[in-house]
Amino acid sequence: MNSDVSEFRWIVENISTSVIVTSLSGNILFANAVCEKLIGYSRDELTSLLVEDIIANSKEVNSWEHIKDVVLSKVSRYNSEVHLICKNKSTIICNANVFCVYSNENIPECIVLVFRDISNEISSSEKLKKKNLELARINSELLRSNKDLKKISEIKTKFLSIASHELKTPLTSIKGYTEIILTTMKDKVDNEIGQMIESISRAAEKLHEVINNMLDVTRIEQKRLRLKPVDMNLKETMLLCINELNQLASQRNMTFKWDIEENLPLFYGDKMRIQQVFTNLLSNALKYSPDNSEIEIKISIEDDRYYHIIIIDHGIGIDKEEQEKIFKPFYEIARTIDHNTDTSKYMGGGTGLGLSIVKGIIERHGGLVWVKSDGTAQGKFPGSEFHINLPLKSIVQWDDDETQLIKLHKVMGSHRKKRDDNLHDDTKKSILIIDDDRDAVKIVRRVLQPEIEIITAETGEDGLRIAFKRKPSLILLDLYLPGLDGCQISKILRSQEETRNIPISFFSAATQNEEIERCYASGADDFIIKPFDSKELTEKINRLLM
Ligand code: ADP
Repeated sequence: MNSDVSEFRWIVENISTSVIVTSLSGNILFANAVCEKLIGYSRDELTSLLVEDIIANSKEVNSWEHIKDVVLSKVSRYNSEVHLICKNKSTIICNANVFCVYSNENIPECIVLVFRDISNEISSSEKLKKKNLELARINSELLRSNKDLKKISEIKTKFLSIASHELKTPLTSIKGYTEIILTTMKDKVDNEIGQMIESISRAAEKLHEVINNMLDVTRIEQKRLRLKPVDMNLKETMLLCINELNQLASQRNMTFKWDIEENLPLFYGDKMRIQQVFTNLLSNALKYSPDNSEIEIKISIEDDRYYHIIIIDHGIGIDKEEQEKIFKPFYEIARTIDHNTDTSKYMGGGTGLGLSIVKGIIERHGGLVWVKSDGTAQGKFPGSEFHINLPLKSIVQWDDDETQLIKLHKVMGSHRKKRDDNLHDDTKKSILIIDDDRDAVKIVRRVLQPEIEIITAETGEDGLRIAFKRKPSLILLDLYLPGLDGCQISKILRSQEETRNIPISFFSAATQNEEIERCYASGADDFIIKPFDSKELTEKINRLLM
């Protein structure tokens, strides 16, 4: 090694990377202290070795022969990965920077190899690669589970919708027959049977309520809850709900107290739905509070922007961790033991649907609902406060709403009026019912005869034949029939000269807005939803016949 090499020996000795200097034939001439430490050979041992003794020659990484060729062929530097063989025969993955040192005459003199241990970086990057692979796997599993969950949720919604629809049809018979017995045949049944029928009627009413709740939940989940907004008075609506529940409350010596701001501006919203919200919250307040307690109601205007409605009870309270969950469908806090007193079983179990419907309705109006409570405490009644904010100025798009249906209905109504003017006569009216549900037909017959003649058909084809032949005063049409469906029949009736002017009302348990819209679009004048009560049926039929 010449003097130039000894000059930079001092510098090399003190830098923090491993350095080896070799002759052109590969004899190790010098190695610094860091290198000794890295591969475990002493410097004396190293200087008795060839560089190829400490550089692994594998297919994956480059051999010394290759490195030497690169640096001596004046390609300048070699910079790549090499595997160093340590004294203990383990290997270290290094990044090698190799170059040739030339004399002033440009003659190659020696080769310098600078190594940097990258084993840790490689293992971290391998770990990272593994982690990334794992993450990708978890991600695809999540996507799959998400898809599955979505499917399950769709199946659940479909199930709820089909179940509700299928339950409504038999309910039409139960409600219809019990009502007929209780109103027109009471003198024919003895007292005990009468009481049994009253129980059946109450149970059917309860079932009807549950089915309607299930339908509401599906509508809310599918973002299909449509409203009929009008200018309404919140105070009047609240007092109406209080009045309806007053009897129930007084049975348990419970009272309602209210503090409602005078001259509240009118609220633009769906009156029936807001009434449903208030009734739900008030009956929960009754359900989850002990006898003799008081329920407070407050309504005020907040920040000139919101109506603030508060319903305060002195009942069992709601734990903090439950306060969000109770607004989810089917969620109930299952601690019925807390809900009993010696004197009265004041906790009536529900379906866990009420609050999710409340939330859906309030949010559909652009509002918010939340609960405040200090939680539950055995034997104590910390109570709960349900808060509602409703916007003072409507911020909701009502375009896709039931107002459209109402408009459609009105247009059809004016067509109907024109037809009615032509049709009006004093002869006995007849109604053609096209429906394969014989019980529903029997009930209509019972309610409307003998003033009105009832003609029936169980299929669309028969119905059409009879309609052309008999030209009834009104046609009641089920939506789902064997063969031609209700909408197809309605369209045919509307397209023909002989039947064009006969009023048509659908008569079905279908309650999806799309289904109802389809019926109106096919030319129907009205829609009677099953199960119906006889008063509602008579009123609608009379209106249609008028
Ligand atoms: P449910 O039909 O069971 O009353 P809701 O959706 O109305 O269904 O309420 C969900 C749950 O929230 C109830 O089961 C009850 O545990 C709890 N809850 C609702 N209102 C109150 C209240 N005022 N006080 C205490 N708990 C309540």
